[in-house]
Amino acid sequence: MAISLGEYKISLDSKDDEANVNFVSHAHTDHISGLRKNKRALASEITKDLVESRSNISMELIEEPECVELLNAGHMLGSRQLFVQNDLYGYSVLYSGDYQMDEPVLAEKLEPKQTDVLIVDSTYPYPDVKFDEKGEVIDAIQFYARKKTERGHVVFGAYTMGRAQELVKILNDGGMIPAVDEKIAVVNEVYNKHGAHLEYAVLDHPESSPISIVGQSRLEATCEAIRAKSVKRVYTAVASGWSKIFRFETDVQFNLSDHADFSQAVDYINVCGAKIVFTFGSNARLFAKHLAARGYDARPLGYTSEVNALMLNHI
Ligand SMILES: [Zn+2]
Repeated sequence: MAISLGEYKISLDSKDDEANVNFVSHAHTDHISGLRKNKRALASEITKDLVESRSNISMELIEEPECVELLNAGHMLGSRQLFVQNDLYGYSVLYSGDYQMDEPVLAEKLEPKQTDVLIVDSTYPYPDVKFDEKGEVIDAIQFYARKKTERGHVVFGAYTMGRAQELVKILNDGGMIPAVDEKIAVVNEVYNKHGAHLEYAVLDHPESSPISIVGQSRLEATCEAIRAKSVKRVYTAVASGWSKIFRFETDVQFNLSDHADFSQAVDYINVCGAKIVFTFGSNARLFAKHLAARGYDARPLGYTSEVNALMLNHI
């Protein structure tokens, strides 16, 4: 997936053999594959710090070319959209990466932009999936954590980058300081370098902490370690947008997402005034189908697509 702009061919969160610069919307690992071939990148400083803290990749940020703007995406700290005013072809393109319309817990709030073409993430393509009101979810997490830690241990399993930091912030705002595993602590440090003010301890002895946040894959082992040394009950928890669709194997699941649900996506398309919508990602076809049924000029975009060529055929 790439956009050509004069001397630049910009890959969009993906690997493109002919691209000479990568746009990296945010630091989640499924968006950084282009950097393995070419370290030149358009991205925020925060994304660069986060990527480099979790991998052996070094990024070389380049100046934004004329006609290019990076805009906040509201997904995680440092996440950006790419806006290109392509005067050569006579249209503008906004590429969303992952985004949310809702008030983020820690990210910079989304900046929509008027555009001719919108290339939009399709993580949640289901019209009948509506996320819970975020303030209520945050209250519920704080209430649950407070109640259960009166008599037991609470352990959250979370994505190491993004979700874990949101949970630390939510618990801090509820007067609690969680312990986190070392990988989450590394990311917390980068967040704090960029002004997040997260308060946490590093999880040395899980049984000594009433509330912990660990990577998803370490949830079960952490619970076992606590049970081996503590007679108190251990409560497991997860916070995810997928809680509207899947039942996780935890005691409780909260509907906390850093993506847009379908109705947020429709709001986003409307606010941007996009005439043409390209959907991308594994649910691109389904998302485009549901949008088309509502009257939008929407079609799925393959990962190998050259946006300019498609547009020349289209406009
Ligand atoms: Zn993401």
